[in-house]
Formats: sequence, structure tokens, C-alpha cells
Amino acid sequence: MVRVRLAPSPTGTLHIGTARTAVFNWLFARNQKGTFLLRIEDTDKERSKPEFTANILEGLSWLGLDWDEEPLIQSERIDEHRSAIQTLLDRGLAYRCYASEDELTGMREAQKASNQAPRYDNRHRNLTPEQEAAFQAEGRDAVVRFRIDDDANIQWRDQVRGAMQWRGADLGGDMVIARRAPADQIGDPLYNLVVVVDDAAMEITHVIRGEDHIANTAKQLLLYEALGLPVPTFAHAPLILNAEGRKLSKRDGVTSINDFRELGYTAEAIANYMTLLGWSVPEGMEERFTLQQAAEVFSFDRVNKAGARFDWDKLNWLNAQILHSWTPQQLEEALTPLWLQQSWILPDDSSWIEDLCRLLGPSLTLIKDGVEQARPFFIEPELEADGEQQLSQEGAKPALKALVEALAQTPWDGTDPAEAQTLLGAAAKAAGVKKGVIMKSLRAALLGKLQGPDLITTWSLLARLGNDRARLERCLL
Ligand code: GLU
Repeated sequence: MVRVRLAPSPTGTLHIGTARTAVFNWLFARNQKGTFLLRIEDTDKERSKPEFTANILEGLSWLGLDWDEEPLIQSERIDEHRSAIQTLLDRGLAYRCYASEDELTGMREAQKASNQAPRYDNRHRNLTPEQEAAFQAEGRDAVVRFRIDDDANIQWRDQVRGAMQWRGADLGGDMVIARRAPADQIGDPLYNLVVVVDDAAMEITHVIRGEDHIANTAKQLLLYEALGLPVPTFAHAPLILNAEGRKLSKRDGVTSINDFRELGYTAEAIANYMTLLGWSVPEGMEERFTLQQAAEVFSFDRVNKAGARFDWDKLNWLNAQILHSWTPQQLEEALTPLWLQQSWILPDDSSWIEDLCRLLGPSLTLIKDGVEQARPFFIEPELEADGEQQLSQEGAKPALKALVEALAQTPWDGTDPAEAQTLLGAAAKAAGVKKGVIMKSLRAALLGKLQGPDLITTWSLLARLGNDRARLERCLL
């Protein structure tokens, strides 16, 4: 039975890299009819905040990544973590290191000066009981270090990257597994140790995470062995890169799922796009899909090894496709709150709102495009340069005047488009202009500019509010 987990640290809002890792875990779990778990890695007390946990959970739900069982809170398991450290100490696989920060800095500087890679030189690995007693008598605090033999040969079969191999010598020397604390205590347990203890306790079968954790995997494999715990299968997903091929970072402007939401992307587009970031669709499958559809066919052999470049055009294309497929009701639900934020007064007519959504939907790329595009329906627009130019064309004003006069005789209530066409035809004829001239001029008068959605529907919506004639008349002044 497959059991996977996402293990976010609540030290910030839901990061796109974490969300993408969540997507791969979710897809694999659902594909295998397995279990997708969450573990909140809140052991960094200074930086962890409950509001970040809330943001992460909320963001995952928004994306449609539902999890099974209550999230495990890592900090509640500190006794288990300490007890594993004690086991390693008892077995002689871990030891206390009394080296002070100054000593360690001196060590690294000396290594640098002789062109060596910085690493802990294992100086306290084999202290005699007398040496230990002397450090303790000095009142020195100690960290706990786990022994990493230089000649350890660490191998695993990665589900994405195939055969992997690391040498103990490349892991930076004996690793700190508990922070500095008085020597008769065990300080705060650290990441690699707690992850192994918790993944084993949660009976995780597959650890799926970003490739920035590969060196941690090598260290964790040594800990599994030392603690005699069953080893899960590992899969390392490629990193998300920016357009220049560097790791996507704060400098790229958007890194958190919140940012994408605020920019007007739909959850469906983000979830779809994050799946494509590092996974290629099987032959015959379209690039636009739901998470459920992807879960049916997900496998690691289609996850790429190379970093995935973030492509805004593709995300925008996906978002547009999704918005174009939304029902007027879905659009209404997304747009109404944005319109209310603008303090616009919405007509008390739900079919009007629905028709406006139906009109705008096909031209949206981002949800928030529906603010600018709806503006002239709520607020009388200024005349823009192209609108003004149109109205100064020969025949434009006489045509509008004829239309205003025709409307005075037979007002249009906005319901029957055939009536609108008749009115336009009559006005064009009376002014002696082509129908195109009156159409463009009407658009300029109603929207202030020449760009916009279908003219008759636009007119109809304004006519239903009784706003069309004032807009035409102001152009004749
Ligand atoms: N808390 C770690 C992170 O957010 C978890 C890594 C892991 O999956 O083991 O990077």
C-alpha cells in the first residue's frame, strides 16, 4: 500500500516548489490508490508560524490536492526524535562534539587557506572519557554528531534519476543531528534525523521531493541503516527554473501560490501547469487536463531529469483555455467579488450579470482581466484617443444623432438584437453613411474606445440598464 507525504516547513506561504512536490505526491498516491499525508515540519521555532501552516493547507485545498488523515505536527514528536538520538549515542553511532563555534570557524578558514572543501574534520569523534570530562568541566555545550564514514558507499535506485551513488567522504564529515545544548542533555533534533524518524513512523513507502534534497537522501539512508528502519523508495523531481535557466527565486517576482492567485490565475491552470513542469504527457493526451485525468496515467518514468523552465506563455494559454470553458455562473462567482472591491454598484438583476459574464468570458486570460473589461459596463468611460478619432470622422456624429432620434421614437429595451440591427440600419440610411461607420461610432460612444466585445451584446447590456442613450447623447454635445 503506497503511502506518501508532503512535509512543508511553515516558515513562509505555500511556495510553488512545495506545491509542485505536492502535486507529484498527490498524483502518485491517487494513481496507486494509496494515501497522501501531510507533515508540518515546524521544528524551527523562530521561523515557524501558525498563519503559514494555515496558508499552506488553504493553498493545497485551493489547488484540489486533498490529503488523507490529520496532518502530523512534527514538533509534537520531539520525544521520539530525542529517543532515536539516544539510541544512536548508545550504539556508538553518534557522539557529542564540544567544538565551539570559534574553533569550527578556525577549522574552516584553515581548510579554505589550503584549498580544501570545507567539512567537519571529525575532531571529536574518538574522545577519551577523560577528554570528554575535561570539556564538560569547562562547562562546554555540545552538539550530537552522527558518524559518516568516508568510505561509506551509498546507493539507491531513484524513481526519476535511476541508479544513484554517493561517497560518505562527500557529505561534509560527521553530521550534526542535535543542536548545541548542555552536555547532559540532547538539544533540538535536526532535519535529517527527524525526517527519517517521522517517515518511518508514518510508514512512508515513497519519498517524493525536489532534487535539492539529493544529498540529504544520501545522509538519511545512512540513518535508516543505523536505526534499523525500513528504507522507502526515493523520487527526486527536477527543480523549477526561471526563463534564464536559474532556480526560480524571489527575484523572479512570484514564488508563492498566493502571488499566482492574486495575479488572476485559476487553481485548475496552476495545478495543470505545475504537473507539466517536469512531467510529460503520454502520447495522445492533451496538455490541458484535470488533476484526476493526470492521476490516471501518472508515472515516474515520464518525470524529466532536467530542470523545468517556467514558461509564462504556456501558463497564460492554459489559464485562458480554462476561463473560456467556464460557465457564466463560475465566472460570476470569481468576478463579482472583484467588482465589489472596486465599489461598483451591481444591478439587481442576476440575468444581466450572467449575460455580462457570458460576454466577457471568451476574452479573459486572467481572472482579473474581467475587472478592466467590465469597467465600462459599470462606469461611464472617458473617451480614449481612438474613440475620439472615430467620432471626428465624417458622418460619425450625424449617424449617432440619427440613432439618438430613432431611439427617441422607438427606444430599444435591449432584448431583441434584430431590433437593434433595424435601428442601426435606419440611422445609417438617414445619415447617409455605411453601416460600418455607425457601428464603430456606437462602439466609441458606448465604450470610449474601438476595442471591446460583441457590439450588439454590449449595447444590449447598457440598454437594459437604460445607460445607452446618455452615452450617445454626450458625444453630440
Ligand atoms: N521540510 C522539508 C522542506 O520543506 C521537507 C523535505 C522533505 O520532503 O523531506 O524542504
